[in-house]
Amino acid sequence: MPSQCPHCMTEIHAEASICPACGAVRGVWGRSVESWRRASTFMLGMAAFFIVAGMVFGTWVASDYSTTWFDGLIGFLLLSPFMLFSGGVGLFLRYVIPRMPEGWYR
Ligand SMILES: [Zn+2]
Repeated sequence: MPSQCPHCMTEIHAEASICPACGAVRGVWGRSVESWRRASTFMLGMAAFFIVAGMVFGTWVASDYSTTWFDGLIGFLLLSPFMLFSGGVGLFLRYVIPRMPEGWYR
């Protein structure tokens, strides 16, 4: 079933993601699903970075003669909000956005 561009009423191939007549883009919240996927890759990369940074920081804190592994754990947890935030946003962009109903944006 061919679909129709809501902006210029041109008939569009059902698989097409861009209207050939007016350039409207199929997507969610004004962006194509592909660009959301790229953003999610970036956010998941940020989460991985903060996890590694937290481990390095925690190890550094615990390595001092006056601190224990528990102090290192606290140091790691200090960075956990950043891990949870970027990881949560990344997972949302990757798995929730593509399941939302798509619209046409120009
Ligand atoms: Zn159009």
